[in-house]
Amino acid sequence: MRAIHLLLLLSACACGAQDKRVVITIDDLPCANCAEGTWDQVTDDLLRTLKAHRVPAIGFVNESKLYRDGLLDSTRYQLLERWLQAGMELGNHTFAHLGATSTSAADYEQDVVHGEHHLRPLMERSGRELRYFRHPFLQAGATPQRRDSLNAMLAGHGYTIAPVTFDNDEYIYAYCYEQARRALDDSLMNRLARGYLMYMAQSVLFHGSQARDFFGREVPHILLIHANALNAAELDALLFWHEEQGYNFITLEEALKDTCYALPEATTRFGFSWIRRWQLAAGLQPPWPPEIEPDVQQLYDRLRR
Ligand SMILES: [Zn+2]
Repeated sequence: MRAIHLLLLLSACACGAQDKRVVITIDDLPCANCAEGTWDQVTDDLLRTLKAHRVPAIGFVNESKLYRDGLLDSTRYQLLERWLQAGMELGNHTFAHLGATSTSAADYEQDVVHGEHHLRPLMERSGRELRYFRHPFLQAGATPQRRDSLNAMLAGHGYTIAPVTFDNDEYIYAYCYEQARRALDDSLMNRLARGYLMYMAQSVLFHGSQARDFFGREVPHILLIHANALNAAELDALLFWHEEQGYNFITLEEALKDTCYALPEATTRFGFSWIRRWQLAAGLQPPWPPEIEPDVQQLYDRLRR
């Protein structure tokens, strides 16, 4: 709860009268960098929080994570069933989380097809259609030619691309948080959780204002976070903050109906927000988004070494 008060201090304007909408998209299912024995709890905590806030979220799956020692792990597979039972949608995030920038077109397509091996029948058995794709690392083709061929390949397999506007480096906080959790370091976990929520608030405010300046209106946003222990603990506060800001939670289908998602986007080898891609395509030089706190960045760099 302390974190929520900090967040409320960060911005006074709830601006509820405007059309503020956001899709919650959660990547790297069933669980991102989760310790053995925590996958169930992370999944249950995320789904309970999403349902409590009436969020029609979508989770993007890496099927490679369903395997242990080369064998399909039925308990991990069942975690995906829980997402569908909770009323959430699922999408393809490739089998092995390959980045398009450094992967050949043939290998990438194979990873996309491999990534729906269990997912497509699972969706169909629950009366749904597998329709959305999220690029790992948001690498959507580094050149116009590669982007166009990638788009054509994905469309050929029946996929609609899921862009991201509320992009962020949440994974840095999440990695440090997971290490602190494994070390049973409660004070570091609390410090990281508070920093995470402040950082996410700054990031959403930045991207919201960039989009408002660019379009001259509110557009429906798409937030990217991951299925990890940090969000299992802090998603409630994060969603609460969005509600305080006047955001309504919508489906990806509803968001993508907005004409902003038909705008041309600049190509990049990096994982930029789509807002930045639209700005670059329009010849603008947008400012960079808020950075991770220096001490957390240093902790991450040290832990990754
Ligand atoms: Zn991912």
